[in-house]
Amino acid sequence: MNNLKITSIEVDEFKYPLKDVTKDYNGFNLVYKKNSTQTAVTYALKVFTNQGITGTYIGGDSPSFAQFNMFASYLIGKNPLHRELIYNDIKRALRKFDKMGMGPIDIALWDLAGKYYNAPIYELLGGWKTKIPAYASTMHGDRNGGLDSPEAYAEFAVSCKNMGYPAFKIHGWGDYKLDEEIQTILKVREAVGNDMDLMLDPACEINTFLETVKIGRACDEANYLWLEDPYKDTGISIHGHKMLKGLIKTPILQTEHIRGLEEHVNFIQSGATDIVRVDPAYDGGITGAMKIAHAAEGFGLDCEVHAPGPAQRHLIASIRNTNYYEMALVHPKTSTNGTIIDEVYENYDDSLTSINSQGEISIPSSAGLGVEYNWDFIEKHKTGGRKYE
Ligand SMILES: [Mg+2]
Repeated sequence: MNNLKITSIEVDEFKYPLKDVTKDYNGFNLVYKKNSTQTAVTYALKVFTNQGITGTYIGGDSPSFAQFNMFASYLIGKNPLHRELIYNDIKRALRKFDKMGMGPIDIALWDLAGKYYNAPIYELLGGWKTKIPAYASTMHGDRNGGLDSPEAYAEFAVSCKNMGYPAFKIHGWGDYKLDEEIQTILKVREAVGNDMDLMLDPACEINTFLETVKIGRACDEANYLWLEDPYKDTGISIHGHKMLKGLIKTPILQTEHIRGLEEHVNFIQSGATDIVRVDPAYDGGITGAMKIAHAAEGFGLDCEVHAPGPAQRHLIASIRNTNYYEMALVHPKTSTNGTIIDEVYENYDDSLTSINSQGEISIPSSAGLGVEYNWDFIEKHKTGGRKYE
């Protein structure tokens, strides 16, 4: 029996500029704009133990860490290898909330376990894949000379195909025009030909169910692999998506915006999605994500992992019923691709060009998450923090 115990936990907030991006029509979607800057806010979570082994997670948002405040003191003195116990205790403690606070700590505990056993996380999960095909998942459309027309998307899709990407996913415009959105679906297919998988993710911007049906029928016509979270129910209506499935042929991908194992099973069992979505940061960490992937497996469905990141790579390497890694949010004119920029890491990156010529990414092979962080960069941009002991 090991006597490993958590002695303290530190959470630091840090902020840094994102270049050549702005926000779109109502201030929420990150979109391209040359020479414009946005501020990213993220968090570094570090778990310390009585044996000098630590676990780290970088990412997350302020609501997640507000929830973390509710249960951080429970973790002090716990054995960090008891992830199933911790998952269940925290889940019950957060039962009134969306439980987003569970993900960061669980991923840090997996990182710690990997360091304790001196093995990468995918090995602890029974993973075997060494390479995973990635899809280029675009930034939202803009009106600033970037992805600003169906032709611009088509041109970018062709350049991604030439780089080796086997698949391309469109995030359309926030202030969409239905005809322009449909033309984009058709023009991108016309430009890339039939040997590239295409997907559409309006990210819940489409206003009505009937507009969604029209978009779904364009996806049918252009032989899209999936349609994801199309309309403003925000991806959570079981009834709405069951009806949509009956009206279009394109497989739909839902469950990015419902949280945790039981809600995913409710959605699947109701027949409201063709493909299951999971995110380790949103759905109870690597522990929670594996439960959802295996639940999907039990229903005979695939489970696609949301967003790029080290935890996602270890997960996909260890799940049979999954297809692609999401390289998001890529753009032809800015290397900014979301909140976690490459400067945060020493030896890891998620960007348009971090694939091999077959369009694949690799799995970090050193202990835990297998990534090193640039602590000088993080310290320099630190804006606040809290220590729990
Ligand atoms: Mg999505």
